[in-house]
Amino acid sequence: MIPLAIPDLSGNESRYLQECIDSTYVSTVGAFVGRFEEMVASAAGTRGAVATSAGTTALHVALVALGVRRDDLVVVPSFTFVATANAVSHAGATPWLLDVDADSWTLDPRKLSDALTRHTRRDADGSLRHVASGRRVSAVVAVHTFGHPADADSLRAVADSFGLPVLSDAAASLGATYRGRAVGVDAGRATVFSFNGNKTVTAGGGGAVASDDEDLVAHVRHLSSTARVGADYDHDEVGFNYRMTNLQAAVGCAQMERLDSLVAAKRRIRRAYDVAFADLPDVEPFPSVSWAESACWFSGFVAPRGSTDAIRAALREEGIDARPTWKPMHLQTPYADAPREDLEVSDSIWSRIVTLPCSTGLSDDDLAAVIAAVPRAVRAAQQ
Ligand SMILES: *Cc1c(COP(=O)(O)O)cnc(C)c1O
Repeated sequence: MIPLAIPDLSGNESRYLQECIDSTYVSTVGAFVGRFEEMVASAAGTRGAVATSAGTTALHVALVALGVRRDDLVVVPSFTFVATANAVSHAGATPWLLDVDADSWTLDPRKLSDALTRHTRRDADGSLRHVASGRRVSAVVAVHTFGHPADADSLRAVADSFGLPVLSDAAASLGATYRGRAVGVDAGRATVFSFNGNKTVTAGGGGAVASDDEDLVAHVRHLSSTARVGADYDHDEVGFNYRMTNLQAAVGCAQMERLDSLVAAKRRIRRAYDVAFADLPDVEPFPSVSWAESACWFSGFVAPRGSTDAIRAALREEGIDARPTWKPMHLQTPYADAPREDLEVSDSIWSRIVTLPCSTGLSDDDLAAVIAAVPRAVRAAQQ
């Protein structure tokens, strides 16, 4: 089977891991953690970054540091990975589910503006309140879908006018650019990355919160390591044990050294699929817009409604791992009752997406095999 996405660990990964073992620095203290944070901040284009145990924990601690509290509402696109909504829940808040834009599959700024205008009012104390539920609205999470940046300038303009901070869930977007800028530049108050095993750059598991706001970076660092003050057992807040270990950072540093070539490999696969399937009837490519260059974490195509199960089955029979993608949050049991607005685009796209093998080490032969098999599978599904 040609796998969907496996890591390429052919750089300095094993050497750096051995250094951790030899030095006994295997836990959250160690030189690789600091080095990894500098590499992530540099790639994101931000002043600082804090490495965490996962993308999910990075999202959680960032939301808490941004002031999200129990019983708040946090705007989240319904079309995202469940971790985005879960992090909001872990902070004690509830996701307010909005739709994505058809051109980028990221949070739609016009729908955001419309929802905030129609459904919130400003309290005497200055906080923004969702009228129907009586809850405070405290943040907007902009998700960079499959490595494609959200429209940060437009989203920030709307969020600013309502006094809301934007947190970017750029889990799989390191290496992407937005209006020619690195993905964390002006993306909001903070940008979160994941280094899970299936992301373009992996640390085995891990995450990071990157930001230009040095106070916020310091607060995230403090919260993620038990909010300890000084060297004794004094803690001034309810903190977390969310730091990345030196072992993870060792792998992460070796991967970050090759960020450019890993992202280039992902983009090459995307281009090959887009070119090969351009003339396939009823098949549409993944989004591409003039204002951003995706990091192309996942690639594939959009098929006619009702055909994806058959297409995937046909591909799997040919030894090609083709998968479905994120089922939106409003269709998930834990979020069935979450407040939501019109979700027309989320509803129309998710079940039509087929993801295809996109490992950074995908060989030319395997790429050619996938390209040859897809038209057959699409045709078979139409019969
Ligand atoms: C991968 C991913 C996450 C979660 O990251 P983990 O490191 O697996 O916790 C969150 N949001 C999005 C959009 C992701 O793709």
